[in-house]
Amino acid sequence: MEISPKLLELAQRVEEKLSPLYRDIEKTAIANHNKVLKAFAEHKVSEFHFKGSTGYGYNDEGRDNLERVYASVLGSEAALVRSQIVSGTHAIVASLFGVLRPGDELLSVSGAPYDTLEEAIGIRGNAPGSMQEWGIAYKQVELTPQGDFDLAAIKEAINSKTRVAMIQRSRGYATRPSFTIDVLAKIISYLKGLKPDIIVFVDNCYGEMVETSEPTDVGADIIAGSLIKNMGGGLAPTGGYLAGKKIYIDQAANRLTAPGIGAEVGASLGVNRQLYQGLFLAPHIVSEALKGAVYTSALFQELGYLVSPNFDEKRGDIIQSIILGSPEQMVAFCRGLQEKSPVDAHVRPEPAPMPGYNDQVIMAGGTFIQGSSIELSADGPLREPYAIYLQGGLSKEYMKIAVLSAANKCLKLTNKL
Ligand SMILES: *Cc1c(COP(=O)(O)O)cnc(C)c1O
Repeated sequence: MEISPKLLELAQRVEEKLSPLYRDIEKTAIANHNKVLKAFAEHKVSEFHFKGSTGYGYNDEGRDNLERVYASVLGSEAALVRSQIVSGTHAIVASLFGVLRPGDELLSVSGAPYDTLEEAIGIRGNAPGSMQEWGIAYKQVELTPQGDFDLAAIKEAINSKTRVAMIQRSRGYATRPSFTIDVLAKIISYLKGLKPDIIVFVDNCYGEMVETSEPTDVGADIIAGSLIKNMGGGLAPTGGYLAGKKIYIDQAANRLTAPGIGAEVGASLGVNRQLYQGLFLAPHIVSEALKGAVYTSALFQELGYLVSPNFDEKRGDIIQSIILGSPEQMVAFCRGLQEKSPVDAHVRPEPAPMPGYNDQVIMAGGTFIQGSSIELSADGPLREPYAIYLQGGLSKEYMKIAVLSAANKCLKLTNKL
């Protein structure tokens, strides 16, 4: 590798202090693997479940059983796991439209929702069919400057129309920390205390399998996520999932297909095996991504950059941000990472405008599955503080190679080699 000997030596030193953290991540992976294996055994997963259906997809036992397996793994009554769910945003929006009715109010208690939800809610742009157009009101309560839930403001905001309280588990592209399950358990119980019939929805993207329990284990009524992130284990070619109370999953299924048809239809075509096998691998893949994130955090901190989270901080998602401090370093980082991708290594990332962003965005990602962010990728808007967000990584070894290449490019640029 064309990595400077000085950087390699430093990386070696950094790695030595990470062993105890790696052991903790492995403990979580073992507990999650156990949970998945238990669910597979309980639901008698067999070879015939991998067979797909066509057409309407009636009596697709493989698909239906996968949903039972997901429900068990996620500690919920029911789940919907479909390749017809096109993305995480779709899974979230199907959940929200499934349970909200005109006149209801949606309350985000964790500040601004993920960018892609703004148009669906109707707080940005003017997308036909947004919740706003359907007469669903929206309010949000900001987190405190420390990144905690603002309990007094939440109490103030909840009223007789508040039907759904929404929480984003992951940090997303914000500088706040992610929420751990302990913290989620407390806020869910607080919300239920204020309004017992409130539906608590958690955007679970990037958080799955990072800990040994999920938001549904601690009282969330419905959660949703993408299969090309944690739960797909790098093998799911597309799709999304929802899990939670049966009544709400049924409502969301009616929204996803048609009222009266719900979850009964939806051909799985050929993806059942990949979805089962991806779920089987997910605990390990998430642990690889976490080890890579911890490694990246420690390495860049050692190099003098501000990072979040710190390498030894408790994590609620797989995202690692590094404040690189200049647009040039963001470009250098992405190019270094891209050069060590398995796909499109020959492509040179360039900053470009993106719909929905005011600033140019740079991204790196050479993935087998388009846009998969459980495979290694990095991106960020070219604006203060010039932070890059790194996520995923199917193997820690691959992440080390790619992240060292990114670091090498940054150091070369700043003449620190
Ligand atoms: C990725 C993500 C989404 C949206 O998922 P897409 O698959 O990109 O539509 C929503 N919320 C969070 C926190 C995410 O990380």
